[in-house]
Amino acid sequence: MDGRGNAAPAIGIDLGTTYSCVAVWKHDTIQIIPNDQGNRTTPSCVAFADAERLIGDGAKNQAAINPANTIFDAKRLIGRRFTDSKVQDDMKLWPFRVIKAPSDTPKIVVTYKGQDKHFFPEEISSMILTKMKETADSYLGKLVKDAVITVPAYFNDSQRQATKDAGSIAGLNVIRIINEPTAAAIAYGLENKSAINGKINVLVFDLGGGTFDVSLLIIEEGRGTNFEVKGVAGDTHLGGEDFDNRMVDHCAKEFKRKWNKDLTGNKRALGRLRCACEKAKRILSSNILTSIEIDGLHDETCLIDAKMEKSNVDEVILVGGSTRIPKVQSMLQEFFDNKVLCKSLKPDEAVAYGAAVMAEKLSGRGHKRFIDLMLLDVTPLSLGEELIGDVFDVVIPRNTPIPTKKSKIYVTTVDNQSSVETVVYQGERARCKDNHLLGTFSISGIPPAPKGCIEFNDCFEIDANGILTVTSEIISTGKSEKLRITNANGRLSKDEIEKMVNDADKYKREDHVYKKKADAFNALEDCLYKMKNKVKNGVCGERLRKLEHAIDDTTKWLEENQGASVDELQRKKDYLQSLWMPTY
Ligand code: AMP
Repeated sequence: MDGRGNAAPAIGIDLGTTYSCVAVWKHDTIQIIPNDQGNRTTPSCVAFADAERLIGDGAKNQAAINPANTIFDAKRLIGRRFTDSKVQDDMKLWPFRVIKAPSDTPKIVVTYKGQDKHFFPEEISSMILTKMKETADSYLGKLVKDAVITVPAYFNDSQRQATKDAGSIAGLNVIRIINEPTAAAIAYGLENKSAINGKINVLVFDLGGGTFDVSLLIIEEGRGTNFEVKGVAGDTHLGGEDFDNRMVDHCAKEFKRKWNKDLTGNKRALGRLRCACEKAKRILSSNILTSIEIDGLHDETCLIDAKMEKSNVDEVILVGGSTRIPKVQSMLQEFFDNKVLCKSLKPDEAVAYGAAVMAEKLSGRGHKRFIDLMLLDVTPLSLGEELIGDVFDVVIPRNTPIPTKKSKIYVTTVDNQSSVETVVYQGERARCKDNHLLGTFSISGIPPAPKGCIEFNDCFEIDANGILTVTSEIISTGKSEKLRITNANGRLSKDEIEKMVNDADKYKREDHVYKKKADAFNALEDCLYKMKNKVKNGVCGERLRKLEHAIDDTTKWLEENQGASVDELQRKKDYLQSLWMPTY
């Protein structure tokens, strides 16, 4: 028996903040799979009711009467630390309780069957993924194993890893984590367009239930079709639910004015009002009288980030249920000088659609449309390591397409150094202290040798899922150590990334000055070190005394003048070199 013919196909899952969606390639096309309620998207919501656990529509429907045990927004927690300022801010808005577990991990507390239960965000996400898997299982009549899951383009390594873990907990084999905007572009088959034009620029405008993400993709023909995320921007706390909140506020005020009754203390009434408002909002999408304002659309940072004029954007894709709102569409179209928007697919299904295309390709069943599809995403921030003097040395620059592997050779910095610590940072600043520490590891057993004589090959590798591994190898002995960035030493949140990128611009000048000074300082130290060694052999008489005197003087001067200017440092170095010339 072939086995493959009987196996279930791989599925694509859009694991959203407010809603999730699952799709599969069947009957020569992508099918969006409806859940047991007949709905094509399922609320990313899990509830612990008196006697049962509810996932999806059932959970959302009882949220108003059981707020403390109805968990949503797990995607805002996944892969983050409890003390992350984003988590702290979000916690203030949630009706459920989040506590700090060991290693600064957040855990969600619910009361279930009379007992307190604690769940990791990965576990809650895994429950939603299980629901999506079961939806696919019953549609296909087979047990699904393989899945492609999508994540926001700005998700860091730790968030991607935690999403993968959630898949494993749900019994899925996560064959690939891909970026949501990339999935949307695949759904629209834009690789076919880039095949004709060589290269196209695509803006993905994703306004969902709780988040607003704008990404700029470049799709280019290479060995296959490359999808490169050039820039991301948006607002992690703007979406359809904010519009619902505004409507609820407005209606509660109107109610008070008309009937002189305050609804705000009545959770049940507010819950019902919210449901009614959401329904009304959806209906209003066929009416253009709604007024929605989106800050920042006119100074779109995503385009600035990608150094692109809006006239160079070839395609604009609508993603997320809230892009159904006519006012959102007309504002966007106006901004892009009346460009025709890509909206033929249902906006809340486009990401799952693209994920299913990718799943089909990766599972090797290989419909011919998918053969050439090759994905390239980019690193959101530069990655590198610490050199002496707190200097951040970039190994993989920001916006490098991934997967990627880059190596640099480093050397020992003191004589007979027996171990070296590799300190890995992420960021855009010249000084390590201004960047984000990812982790450290050390390599020992270095053969004794003068400073600079032992070489290390430090390799930074980011896999197709965006997960970073740093390896340091002593070239002469082949001994190596590695660091894999895990949840415990998690990478940065989107906001931290944004802040660092903004700070980097702000402080670019300051950093440049610091870097020049650190370089001059190191160059003088290096010159002193080399001269000391050379003086030991081969120089004698008056010249030796003069040189020794100059070396001692400069060493002392350097110790006492840590704040010396670049000019002073360079002058000292030039002077030392002039004494040594022409042999130095
Ligand atoms: P998503 O997370 O992409 O599934 O988007 C969910 C959000 O889209 C929710 O806030 C929904 O209320 C909203 N939404 C879905 N359909 C419509 C519609 N026809 N008009 C306006 N908003 C909608």
